[in-house]
Amino acid sequence: MEKKEQYHWADETANRVIKEKGNKPSYTVAAGITPSGTVHIGNFREIITVDLVVRALKHKEKKVRFIYSWDDYDRFRKVPGNVPKEFEKHLGMPVSEVPDPWKCHKSYAEHFEKELEQSLHPTGIKPEFIRQNEMYKSCKYSKGLKTMLKNKDEIIMILNKHKNEHLLVDWYPVIIYCSKCKKDFTKILHYDGEYEIEYECECGHKEKIDFRKNGNIKGTWRSEWPMRWAYEKVDFEPGGKDHSTAGGSYDTGKEIVKIYNWTAPTYQLYDFVSIKGKGGKISSSKGDVVTIKDCLEIYEPEVLRFLFAGTRPNTEFSISFDADVIKIYADFDKLERIYFGEEEISKEKLAKQKRIYELSMIDLPKKMPFQPSFRHLSMLVQVHKGNIEKVLEYYQKDDRTKKRAELAWNWIQKYAPEEFRFELQEKVNIPLKEQEKKALRILSKKLRERNYDEETLFEEFYSICQESNIKNTDFFTAAYKVLINKEKGPRLASFILAIGKDKVIKVLETIK
Ligand SMILES: [Zn+2]
Ligand SMILES: [Zn+2]
Repeated sequence: MEKKEQYHWADETANRVIKEKGNKPSYTVAAGITPSGTVHIGNFREIITVDLVVRALKHKEKKVRFIYSWDDYDRFRKVPGNVPKEFEKHLGMPVSEVPDPWKCHKSYAEHFEKELEQSLHPTGIKPEFIRQNEMYKSCKYSKGLKTMLKNKDEIIMILNKHKNEHLLVDWYPVIIYCSKCKKDFTKILHYDGEYEIEYECECGHKEKIDFRKNGNIKGTWRSEWPMRWAYEKVDFEPGGKDHSTAGGSYDTGKEIVKIYNWTAPTYQLYDFVSIKGKGGKISSSKGDVVTIKDCLEIYEPEVLRFLFAGTRPNTEFSISFDADVIKIYADFDKLERIYFGEEEISKEKLAKQKRIYELSMIDLPKKMPFQPSFRHLSMLVQVHKGNIEKVLEYYQKDDRTKKRAELAWNWIQKYAPEEFRFELQEKVNIPLKEQEKKALRILSKKLRERNYDEETLFEEFYSICQESNIKNTDFFTAAYKVLINKEKGPRLASFILAIGKDKVIKVLETIK
């Protein structure tokens, strides 16, 4: 019996969108977040989940509009640890009105928005950004808000089904920012059933506004999310675990959206991303979160995409900064060889693996690119003390090698575990036993006499040990001590070749 081909989850999700939303020439997909602090790699999962579905829909020759909502008309509700405490005075204002604590952008919100937009650029993800503060302030949602307010009893009923503490009839699904103090410490006094609403603020200001002309009014989250689905005609949007629980905002949104004459988008839950092995080296000025930029300091954008493309969104996984980085690069390179037919894989797995590769790449190469090993580069950059030009003399000078060498150097400096780090010695500084000296002298002689590859050099070690009557382990330890003043190090044969035999001979010649 023939085994069934495996499909990629993004293609499955695209099929689900088409099935649920009907076969149309174009679709709108969405993601979004409140820029209340640094946007971290966990939030990136939402963005890339959508991006992969965008790719899958385009693969089916659909047009796709990918919108990313900056929910920057949300209230500033908490001062994060990395922001001065005096910012408490801005609590209750829209985050788009709070000043930038670092004074480099127009507002608090814009600081975090620009940070994310810039770091998204190298990943090839290009959503259309929608700033909710602009949408609200220019009264784009006035019709939706009217529908929301007119149907407030229906909304209360839906929300109360899932609440222990029931909303009362005088509750409104909107908040109003006071036009005098800009804060939302306001109380609605009267709604006329059309476009006029009257409020009073704690600061004493009292006003009647027409929300076709005055954008100080904003829908509450559970009421505005479905309003925006209807406004933008959203077909697909994923949500994190917090939105996905029974009675969560997607659940209630699915019911509330009916008042706006729309249906809820096809949904996809995405799980958490944890971090492995960052060792407290992430800057605390960002509130101790790991950003896309942090990841792109050690991962090529394609390798970062591969981590997400290769994992189903509803499973938790971790991004590693420790020794796993080497394995992840090796896995990615293997995937690339599979894609280009340079490595065998079972027929039923092939289609899916090829899709993971296609979805990981920003520009799909026509032929197999050169693959410098990350492990090897992490040695070479240390041999050359971070001089990338020197590293490229060893390898070919293509963009990938240069980039990967830079990333390997970042990794060594910031995150690599101790056993991967070394400093090449200029001369022998340690006392050696006679047998050790003998073995290392033979090594020096052999290196001078012929050229080795990794395998033949590795075999040579064993004949050297026999000839000098030394245990293999003692030989390796002596070699590491002489070369890097450590008991252990990278695989010796490839290490010696990475250093370059001339340099090694020079060190070994200083044995007294
Ligand atoms: Zn700034
Ligand atoms: Zn006020």
